[in-house]
Amino acid sequence: MDTKLNFADGERLHTYMKKAEERAKYFIGYPIAQDFDYSELYPLLKFPLNNIGDPLVESTYDLNSRSLEQEVLQFFSALFNAPQNNWWGYVTNGGSEGNLYSLYVARELYPNGIVYYSEATHYSVQKNIQLLNLRSIVISTQENGEMDYDDLRQMVQMHRDQPVIILANIGTTMTEAKDDLQKIQAILKQMAIKNHYIHCDAALAGTYSALLDLKPGFDFTYGADSIAISGHKFIGSPIPCGMVLVKKNYKERIGKAIPYIGTVDTTITGSRNGHSPVFLWYAIKKLGREGLRQRALDCLNMAAYAVNQLNEIGVEAWRNPSALTIVFPEPSLALRQRWQIATEAGRSHIICMPGVTKTQIDQFVDELEAELIGNTDLIAQEALA
Ligand SMILES: *Cc1c(COP(=O)(O)O)cnc(C)c1O
Repeated sequence: MDTKLNFADGERLHTYMKKAEERAKYFIGYPIAQDFDYSELYPLLKFPLNNIGDPLVESTYDLNSRSLEQEVLQFFSALFNAPQNNWWGYVTNGGSEGNLYSLYVARELYPNGIVYYSEATHYSVQKNIQLLNLRSIVISTQENGEMDYDDLRQMVQMHRDQPVIILANIGTTMTEAKDDLQKIQAILKQMAIKNHYIHCDAALAGTYSALLDLKPGFDFTYGADSIAISGHKFIGSPIPCGMVLVKKNYKERIGKAIPYIGTVDTTITGSRNGHSPVFLWYAIKKLGREGLRQRALDCLNMAAYAVNQLNEIGVEAWRNPSALTIVFPEPSLALRQRWQIATEAGRSHIICMPGVTKTQIDQFVDELEAELIGNTDLIAQEALA
């Protein structure tokens, strides 16, 4: 493959690369870190790294990054207080796959269990429930996006004879609300539910919540049976990725030995990205737990700043306690497109992930203000920019 792109295709690629660079400057609406520098790892792009199969069982496919993946998993097992010698997990393609895997484990334990999840839950969960042919009940939410525990209590009460599978949100997609595991467990206890399983969808807020030891806690010591996170959100990665951890004794009924790959097929996909564990490993080693913690504190400060600036111009912006997500009434379509801002039911949000700068917040607030006071000159300037 040493021929060159022809001129037209070279131009095409160049144009695309320019566009990506440009759009990266207006990226405050999704929970994705952008402050990473993985250039030291670029030589690895020459290799088809693949962690196919189980993360612990070496494969005939030796061109892999399992050893680094193990260290990544160890880092998160400590961060989430996984039970010593009774955890297992792998680096996934993202939070959605972690949710799917966890619900799969829950179903193998409780084939006739019912999944309870709030209406603010990420769309991947409903799809996963469908794929697994699980029964489920949607629980209403409070105004801030947190599960309505009274509704949960009522629903569980109505189905007391069935195992309960709780899908708890540690940071909902729209408002970064957190479901409280202690309140959930109190309900399960009150209803004398013996067979239950709690999965934490911590895709969005899990990593920094644990680093900052935010309340309510959600890790294994708080009753989680499995936890899924996204790696490309807070840690940051050019390739979407994630991580799932489950109690090891639960997972042992999943997976079988496959002679062709010389390892065990215990994960959702066959081939698994071998590069993303290296990115995660690199970030964890370079920043360390303390560096990551500081980075999270910086984000919290930025979020406080953003709410303040928005309130100053009369926008009713708010955030949940210690959240990086700032919620406000939807601005114009033009502004939402320009800044890549997600909107649902009249509410929009920006998210102060690592890499979001004060300059970006200021510019966004200026543009929003111009729109609100009808400053057509500034709006026209932005359209040209
Ligand atoms: C992002 C997100 C997911 C899905 O994670 P992916 O990494 O995009 O697959 C699931 N749940 C929540 C709450 C999320 O924010």
